[in-house]
Amino acid sequence: MIKDFFKPSSIAEALEMKDKNPGAFFLGGGTKLNKGGENFNAAAYISLEHLGLDSIELENNALKIGAMVTLQKLMDSEDVPQFLKDCAAGESNRNLRNASTVGGEIGYCMSSSNFVAGLLAMEAEVETDGKGKKTLEEYISGNRDDLITAVILPSSKAVLMQKDQRSTANSKPELTVTASVLKEGGKVAKAVVVIGGVAEKPMRLKKVEARLVDGSLASADAVQDAVQDELVPYTEKRERGTYLNYIGAVLTADCVGKAMR
Ligand SMILES: Cc1cc2nc3c(=O)[nH]c(=O)nc-3n(C[C@H](O)[C@H](O)[C@H](O)COP(=O)(O)OP(=O)(O)OC[C@H]3O[C@@H](n4cnc5c(N)ncnc54)[C@H](O)[C@@H]3O)c2cc1C
Repeated sequence: MIKDFFKPSSIAEALEMKDKNPGAFFLGGGTKLNKGGENFNAAAYISLEHLGLDSIELENNALKIGAMVTLQKLMDSEDVPQFLKDCAAGESNRNLRNASTVGGEIGYCMSSSNFVAGLLAMEAEVETDGKGKKTLEEYISGNRDDLITAVILPSSKAVLMQKDQRSTANSKPELTVTASVLKEGGKVAKAVVVIGGVAEKPMRLKKVEARLVDGSLASADAVQDAVQDELVPYTEKRERGTYLNYIGAVLTADCVGKAMR
């Protein structure tokens, strides 16, 4: 049961409250926290509502999205790239998107989140505690305790593609794959490939990325084989691992192929 509900009016105050109440949770839209269960039996919430973190701004050629921007507000913004809007559209329904926030998506970090996978492929950075910056990849590989105040999207000319696998149209994705390919002079200069739903969090397939750049994956079959190899250490520990390994590789080969065209 929630015993304390704090309503700080500045980032400094929110951080001080967290210091004094280490077991308290930062409250975004509450769509996950208020659902209860899992590890979310918090005794205290620290509301982020009055911290002024709900704007979307262009800053130094990058887009800065406040942590309290809801997924629906992001989808309605003219400044947000269509690709990220499509990722957000893949997250549940409009009612939920009206409440769930960018910070909460990352704070919870569902492994098969289309939104988090999309941000990873876009090489987003996370602003924490209103000052420090780290890559999103770094943030989610840690314990995710720091307060996210904004997400920063660098501008890029890369082609982005996302595909997911769901058991029904209304289910959460079981697997999600995102590919980002930047070509220069007809060659792949940079590739980012993210798969979610296999490990505890969405992850980059760095061996596959390197081979896309060195040109050693010349066909869809070669991509599929390379993905299967890279996924084995994760899928061999999973129930239905053979299925996840195979479908994950098929989805990735398709996604990469489309991003390369
Ligand atoms: C029916 C249903 C369907 C769902 N479908 C999906 C889905 O398809 N894909 C998906 O990814 N998720 C899904 N979720 C999970 C959840 O709704 C999302 O992850 C959601 O967007 C969380 O955002 P929120 O703002 O509501 O977070 P909250 O519930 O407020 O918080 C979630 C976690 O993030 C932390 N947090 C919140 N804000 C910050 C911040 N600024 N800095 C640091 N930590 C923070 C909280 O402390 C908590 O640990 C679903 C949930 C429900 C109930």
